[in-house]
Amino acid sequence: MRKNDFDVIIVGAGPAGLAAGYVLAKEGINVAIIERGIFPGSKNVMGGIFYRSSLDDLIPDFYKEAPLERHIIEQKVWFLSDDSMFSAGLKSERYNVEPYNCFSVFRAKFDKWFAKKVSDASAMIINETVVRELILKRGKVVGVRTDRPNGDLYCDVVISAEGVNSFLPKSLGLRKKINANNVALGVKEVIELPDKVINDRFGVSNSSEGVTIEITGPYFNEMRAMGFVYTNRNSLSVGIGAVIEDLVRLKMNPNDLLETLKSHPAIKPLVSGGETKEYMAHMIPEGGYYSMPKLYHDGFMVVGDAAMLVNSIHREGANLAIESGKLAAKTYIEARKKGDFSQRALSAYQKRLEESFVLKDLKTYKNLPKLLEEKKYLISKYPKFLIDAMYEIYNVDRVPKSEKIKLILNKAKKEIGYFSIIKDIFSVWRNLR
Ligand SMILES: Cc1cc2nc3c(=O)[nH]c(=O)nc-3n(C[C@H](O)[C@H](O)[C@H](O)COP(=O)(O)OP(=O)(O)OC[C@H]3O[C@@H](n4cnc5c(N)ncnc54)[C@H](O)[C@@H]3O)c2cc1C
Repeated sequence: MRKNDFDVIIVGAGPAGLAAGYVLAKEGINVAIIERGIFPGSKNVMGGIFYRSSLDDLIPDFYKEAPLERHIIEQKVWFLSDDSMFSAGLKSERYNVEPYNCFSVFRAKFDKWFAKKVSDASAMIINETVVRELILKRGKVVGVRTDRPNGDLYCDVVISAEGVNSFLPKSLGLRKKINANNVALGVKEVIELPDKVINDRFGVSNSSEGVTIEITGPYFNEMRAMGFVYTNRNSLSVGIGAVIEDLVRLKMNPNDLLETLKSHPAIKPLVSGGETKEYMAHMIPEGGYYSMPKLYHDGFMVVGDAAMLVNSIHREGANLAIESGKLAAKTYIEARKKGDFSQRALSAYQKRLEESFVLKDLKTYKNLPKLLEEKKYLISKYPKFLIDAMYEIYNVDRVPKSEKIKLILNKAKKEIGYFSIIKDIFSVWRNLR
């Protein structure tokens, strides 16, 4: 039997792989992270908003030195129809005090910084190398085959952290082909604007305070899509993610969706005069709890997007990736003490995830993807009704308010139906329990 080259090999240097590598290297474990990009983050397009707490647990006060854009003090949801916008959200000074809740980031810069921390902790990061397949011995994973000449590498355990397009878990039969209902296509533009213009347009008092806007509603015509506008220091990240099944069914092109979104009367003034600097597209695993693969095998664990760990309702992905990477690393450390890397030993990873906020949150929303697939009108009909009702209330045309309320109730009865409203409320409540 060939000697191990490393104790652990991690495939992919995104947040999941880097977090796992960091924990292992800090424990003096001989770990390699294999990344196909020219540097970690070079292939990443995340929007994106990064939640602090999971990484802070690994690198306390990381936000004081990491390359971050703005800390977010206001988060809004905009419900758009063709000509209107209804807004809800929270701006709080409690988000404006250190250590802050979340930040806008550019992952190309952020992952590069994180990777430096990981290699300083003495993990080996091997860039520009693609893992082609797993090496198995009597059904157990014992290494990886890379695209380099003589590129076979052996280890105790392989951690699959290669993101949404992961094929390693599939090659072991841990999951089936990814269903078009379980993945969204995200497209994003970075639009450059002077920081002072951004501060004025978004109502913040300086260039370190930021705002996020999530966009949904009847504007997307029963399409499971979510738009976003995030403030960076000197630019905006503007994008849209739509479930691939809907894009195909409605023959929609996400680039066209983004172009029309930018010309909506509520969005246009925000992006006006800006210059597009970058354009990117990437898949997002949005299938939730039921779309997860089996997470372990003999000598193998799956973390981050490869394990479909994304909470799309709260657009949390990178923090779940870090948390899962950490828990997989801890599982390895425990298994190593017993010298047992069998799937029985590594199943402790699943247990750890179940006990963490990661799977608790995904379980809370486990039925939501199916509910929205079956009742697509929930994301269009109700917000449209709300926008029209608000319009009536604010529109002073000498009709008494009592009549307006009657009108609104009649509209609800005619267009949705009281019985349907009760049924929908019950079904949302039941699915979120
Ligand atoms: C448009 C968009 C907006 C998003 N916005 C947010 C947001 O605001 N907040 C948030 O928390 N999350 C957001 N996400 C989700 C977030 O990006 C992911 O959840 C997160 O990046 C998952 O981390 P990961 O380490 O599992 O995978 P990734 O970050 O995808 O990293 C995987 C790495 O593996 C490498 N790799 C893949 N295959 C191989 C191979 N065979 N060999 C070697 N290397 C390989 C890749 O190059 C990559 O670097 C967004 C995603 C998109 C697409």
